[in-house]
Amino acid sequence: MTFADLSLAPALLRALAEEGYANPTPIQAQSIPMLLKGRDLLGMAQTGTGKTAAFALPLLHRLAVAPRSAPKGGARVLVLAPTRELTSQIADGFESLGRYLQPTVTTIFGGVSQFHQVNALKAGVDIIVATPGRLLDLINQGLCDLSRLDALVLDEADQMLDMGFAKPIERIVATLPKDRHTLLFSATMPKTIASLAESLLRDAAKVEI
Ligand code: AMP
Repeated sequence: MTFADLSLAPALLRALAEEGYANPTPIQAQSIPMLLKGRDLLGMAQTGTGKTAAFALPLLHRLAVAPRSAPKGGARVLVLAPTRELTSQIADGFESLGRYLQPTVTTIFGGVSQFHQVNALKAGVDIIVATPGRLLDLINQGLCDLSRLDALVLDEADQMLDMGFAKPIERIVATLPKDRHTLLFSATMPKTIASLAESLLRDAAKVEI
């Protein structure tokens, strides 16, 4: 199977060719068709399996085929991840694969001044990649409005729960539209993740690598 068989936008196929990604990895081959159809997804996969592109490609595709301006002070896609380092890696992935679509991507994480993060949000961005604590801070200050979000991704959900982010995640999700596209990835599937998935996902496709 090739990426062209997955009917991704030509702008994405060009970027993939330049990256030297010839064929989808197993998680990409299984996830991308369902995500392009708008199905929610529960993915059990480790880092190193190509999971970032598995969610970035279909979300970028949907931004490309259904263009609308990013909501002011908010975003169309939110990715939650446990660490600053991971938010940067994910944002780099969206920017690299999206190079011919040029989405606006902002990272939000704690431990630094919020000044630049707030400025980036003001005009609205296509994609926010955030750690839960700082994002919830900005929402509580009225500086980030996610009520017009299209899609939510929780990456490394087990790590986020281990780091004590269950409550912040719950509070963030409470501000999102109910009618949205939701994806949850986790390397392990303990009971806490299963019940988080149960509460967040609707009729989710399950992919295990
Ligand atoms: P991830 O699991 O998302 O951290 O990705 C692991 C590594 O695999 C990253 O360095 C990606 O650039 C690379 N990668 C992702 N998808 C592919 C693909 N289809 N073909 C080759 N390399 C890939």
